[in-house]
This record gives sequence, C-alpha cells and structure tokens, in this order.
Amino acid sequence: MRSDSLDFLKQIVNTPSPSGYEERAAEVYRGYAQSFADKLTTDVHGNVSAILNPDATMKIMLAGHMDEIGLIIHYVGEDGLLYFTGIGGHDSVVPVGQRVWIHTEKGRIPGVIGRKAIHLLEEDERKKKPEIKDLWIDIGASNRSEAEEFVSLGDVATYQVEFETLLGDRAAARGFDNKVGSFIVAETLRLLKEDGGLDPGVGVYAVATVQEEIGLRGARTSSFSINPQCGLAVDVNHAIDTPGLSKTRYGTLDLGKGPSVMRGANTNPIVFRTILEAAKQDEIPYQVDVAPGGTGTDANAMQISGGGMATGLLGVPLRYMHTPCEVLSLIDVENCARLMAAFCRRIKPTTDFTPRVF
Ligand SMILES: [Zn+2]
Repeated sequence: MRSDSLDFLKQIVNTPSPSGYEERAAEVYRGYAQSFADKLTTDVHGNVSAILNPDATMKIMLAGHMDEIGLIIHYVGEDGLLYFTGIGGHDSVVPVGQRVWIHTEKGRIPGVIGRKAIHLLEEDERKKKPEIKDLWIDIGASNRSEAEEFVSLGDVATYQVEFETLLGDRAAARGFDNKVGSFIVAETLRLLKEDGGLDPGVGVYAVATVQEEIGLRGARTSSFSINPQCGLAVDVNHAIDTPGLSKTRYGTLDLGKGPSVMRGANTNPIVFRTILEAAKQDEIPYQVDVAPGGTGTDANAMQISGGGMATGLLGVPLRYMHTPCEVLSLIDVENCARLMAAFCRRIKPTTDFTPRVF
C-alpha cells in the first residue's frame, strides 16, 4: 500500500470515534480528502462528503461509516469507580481485563476494566459469562469527587489498542469496523481523481457516515440530502475461515481472496451485474456473498431512502469483528477501493438502474 494511504488508514483507525462522537475521525477524513476532492461538506448530523463533479445530475453515493463501537460512562460510584454501557454490539467477555482511554473534555485519561478475580468468583459465577452491567472502569480515583474532577457523564471510552501490522499483508486494529470503509471510499475518490476515467456527467459522493453501529442513522440522513440515483456501501464482512464456522451455514469468505459483493434483495441487480463486469474486466478478485433480505449495513438504509436508491454492498473480509483485535488483509482493502472505482467509471449519466429482464 502507498505510504500516504497507509498513514491515513492508521490515523483514522487509531482515532477514537464511538457512535455520536465521530468529530475527530471526521477531521482526519477531511484532512486526507481535501487534496483531491472538488468539494467537501459536513452536515448537521456529522456525515462528511468528499465530492467529485458536484454539479453532475447523475450521482453515486459511496458510504463507509466512520463510527466504531465504544463504551459510555453513565454513573460514577461513591468509591470512584465508573459504570458504563456499550455503544453498539459488544460481546461481554471482551471488556474484562482491558485497558481503556476515556475521552474527556480535558483530554484522554487511562483506566482499566475490573471484575472480581478468578479466586473470588463463586462456583456458579465461574461458569457464567460476565455481563457488562457487572463490570466497571477503574481510573485510580479514591472517591466520586476525585473521579468527577476528570470524568463527566457521557464521556466515552475505547480500548487502548492501535493499528498493528501482522505477517504478510495482514493487519490488526480496533475499529477497522468500519474506519476501513471510510478509508476505502476516500481512496476510491482519489483513484478516480488521479487515474481518471470518471464520466464528467457523473458526480461521486464519498461519504464517511456517522452512527451506523446504533441503527444506520447517518446513512439515512446523508442519503436523503444527497438524493443519489445509485450508491455503494462498504463495510467489513465476517470471514468464514477460522475454526468453528460452518460453510454449509454461512457460505465461504476468506481473508485475502478479494472483497465480498453482496447479492440478494439489498442489492439492485443492475448494480450487481456492473460490479461483477468491472471486477472481471479489471481483473480484481471478489467473492460473492448472499443476503436473503435487508443487511445490517448502511446499504439497507440507503436502498429504501426516499423513492429508493439502486444500491450495492461491498465487504472487506474481517476476523474477530467487534473486538479490539479485528484482523483483515490490506490487499483486500486496496482491491475493494479499486473495485469501487472501476464500478464508478462504468456509470454514465444515462445509466438506467430499473430492474428488468436481460
Ligand atoms: Zn460493526
């Protein structure tokens, strides 16, 4: 991967952005996209659009959500311990024993997530999975007033984990879901600007959306404002290449074999055909994934926004989703941006997305 691109990926992944608190990631996104976008906008919900050909009437929206899961402080105990709720979907075995940063008005402060030690757990407690409500964050404060000097209700926390390169083309990070999607839509725009091929009558809106993890909320507002004819969402997608996952139940999706292209009701058939044509002609690897109905991604909100949007969904195969050590292939990430760009180059101002028999 190009070193400027890798720097941007590391920076946006390492920047904390729990849903509702995406401002810092938005700054990183704008900082990178400003050098190649024709226009940049940020709406009142927080969605950031980097745009090519803003005056074109045919519009393609590319959406990659920039929020990540996190923790939010809702109560400070008399003993100075902080109680939290999960933002987005958490597996409650994950927080135990983790170090966190709490992001406060005065900057970030460290804390640790506590639970009774194994020796002190009762017999039945040992057999059960802990619940988030039974955990707390310890910042070292001795009492409530000391804790409240630093932390306010509604402050959010993220795990103290940063981007790390693993063997080969693989990398681990917290928040690949889905800062990697924001990275991909920005990279797509850069490729279209630098490598050309985009019809001047086609506008591309690369949107870093907000609040996906809590109900696809930013995709709804941004789809409504942009009102495009066509859109692609990109999100991470569960790799089915680790132990215990049944291929007869989930199908296949392997790290390193290319982005997934969704087929099913959440995908416009013309968009799906065009993605596959683009992949074949440009020799970009891909893996078809299937969804029988609406997906839990921005593509769902996009497709049924207003009078409807011809929508497609690309996925980056990812292991260990919603943990501090999400793993993916950087080559898949690059191929996903190439595929998005190849798709955009095939759209003309006259392209008709109405489903029909060929
Ligand atoms: Zn997620």
